[in-house]
Amino acid sequence: MRNKPFIYQINPFHKGKRLYSILRLKCPRCQEGYLFLNKNPYNLCTLDKMPKNCPVCGLDLVRETGFYYGAMMISHALTTVIAVIVHLTVFHFYGWEIAPHLIFLLSIIIGLFPVVFRMARAIWINLFVEYKPDF
Ligand SMILES: [Zn+2]
Repeated sequence: MRNKPFIYQINPFHKGKRLYSILRLKCPRCQEGYLFLNKNPYNLCTLDKMPKNCPVCGLDLVRETGFYYGAMMISHALTTVIAVIVHLTVFHFYGWEIAPHLIFLLSIIIGLFPVVFRMARAIWINLFVEYKPDF
């Protein structure tokens, strides 16, 4: 990392950073293997299906029974942030009435649920595993 240009050291989306793994839903250790069996989050039958091990580095992705329960807290926090942003944008800046506002807010939250669900799991496993490129 030291021999790379300065822009790579400060770019949080560059490979080697946790945000890269989280936003692309990649294995936190090698950042190459995909965390889920199906890349489409809106296929609800395979929404939570993950390989037992990373297909590239072999990291145990299902570390223990109930490992991803903690991801529910992260999912809750992400959903709250999204709800506050949508609320501030729609209710305060556009001045909608409460009924259409709530319908719009619920639509956004339900529509983004699969994406938030997967991102929460990626954040959760990134809390426990760090990037090791030469593994
Ligand atoms: Zn991996």
